[in-house]
Amino acid sequence: MKLRHRLVLSTTITLFAANALPAYAASGPDPRAGEPAFRALYKELVETDSSWPNGSCTLAAERMAARLKAAGYPDGDIAIIVDPAYPKEGNLSVILPGSNRKLPPLLLLAHIDVVAAKRADWERDPFTLIEENGYFYGRGTSDDKAMAAAFTDAMIRFRQEGYKPKRTIKLALTCGEETEKALNGVEYLLKNRPEALSAGWALNEGGGGSLDEQGKPVSNGVQAGEKVYQDFTFAATAPGGHSSRQEPHFNAIGWMAEALARVNAYDFPVDLTPAAKAYFGASAPLYGEKAEVSKAMAAIGAGKATDADYAIVSAENPSWNATLRTTCIPTLVSGGHAANAQPQSVTANVNCRIIPGESVDSILARLTELAGNEKVKVTLADPPQPKSSAPELTPQIMGPIKAISEDMWPGIPVIPRLATGATDGRFTNAAGIPTYGVSGIFADPDGQGVHGLNERIRVKSLMDGRAFLYRLVKAYTE
Ligand SMILES: [Zn+2]
Repeated sequence: MKLRHRLVLSTTITLFAANALPAYAASGPDPRAGEPAFRALYKELVETDSSWPNGSCTLAAERMAARLKAAGYPDGDIAIIVDPAYPKEGNLSVILPGSNRKLPPLLLLAHIDVVAAKRADWERDPFTLIEENGYFYGRGTSDDKAMAAAFTDAMIRFRQEGYKPKRTIKLALTCGEETEKALNGVEYLLKNRPEALSAGWALNEGGGGSLDEQGKPVSNGVQAGEKVYQDFTFAATAPGGHSSRQEPHFNAIGWMAEALARVNAYDFPVDLTPAAKAYFGASAPLYGEKAEVSKAMAAIGAGKATDADYAIVSAENPSWNATLRTTCIPTLVSGGHAANAQPQSVTANVNCRIIPGESVDSILARLTELAGNEKVKVTLADPPQPKSSAPELTPQIMGPIKAISEDMWPGIPVIPRLATGATDGRFTNAAGIPTYGVSGIFADPDGQGVHGLNERIRVKSLMDGRAFLYRLVKAYTE
């Protein structure tokens, strides 16, 4: 008991010390300096159509490389990496060598491809950067050219300011994140040029702050880990026959219906990742008006939750349920061949979102058990994604994020979370590079048109995020 008390006390002191620092990079160059140059870079990047198949990531990469060269990066530290079979799907790799080669590098990762955008459907030209009423409009203004531009701009400023990091900084601007049809740049680099990405940890998209309806900051989110997407095929075959003959337990549609009903009713066991634990702990005070829910969230955050606490939180919000456990949902069914015949075959798709670290084989075994009938065969619909574990939320990672966030947005909590969607972090995490989604860019509650029409970003949010990332990269590397 005493030991535990001392442990808590020393943690408090460490946290206090981190917060009490006059904040990282408070001395030295102004983190907001050079805004006109940043605006020009961002404009050029947004206005370079890098959607698949008409645009070109290679052109975007070349344009950013030219700016980095002009800032003084030698040719040897910049590489445009293109698979000759995919000439328009190039990537950019840049390195700012650190003075202490024993420190594992920091990787800044951003994708430069964007979702396609049709001019006729948009209010403004999607590939012209338009500033209106405090917002930038254009495809990629948010996803993910905001971070790509902020990272590139930081690398340029570090060079121009003569910043000599102790830890090596790598920047990778990659293609092919948004569509399965394109070559995924991160996958390609990991396989062919791993030194472009190898790092102690990476900063990536997927995090960011939330604003309320009035534009006030609510929380600053840090993504630590992603659920793994996997489809399973359920297939039942039967001899078929005339539909006037009913026999018990003969009908393939009946078997499938029973199997899918069991899948639908099943709750996978809770599997608490570090990000989910931290998320519920940090979020509990925000739900004070729902005492029971808030108490259950706090218990999860403290690692003391009972089954009842998990049940309360899961029932409150399907997204919360999804961050606590693997989920599997029947999404497609087809079967039968005539209205007057016993079906000969029925297939269904069951879509699972698996907690990182759990094996696909264990999920397959559980689904087979739930199918509960040897006539319903369960198989993987696609080869499994690389297996990855959820990154740890260490003080080394979280200390600077919290200190800089507190300095810029006092009193706004930093809230880690496990993502239920996917980014390129699924490849880097699987490759042993713990990847964190963090940007300091605060977004409107409506999603800002990402992947949809009239994509936008608040100008203030972008400029704040730029300053936040500049300071964070320095704090990690100085
Ligand atoms: Zn993205």
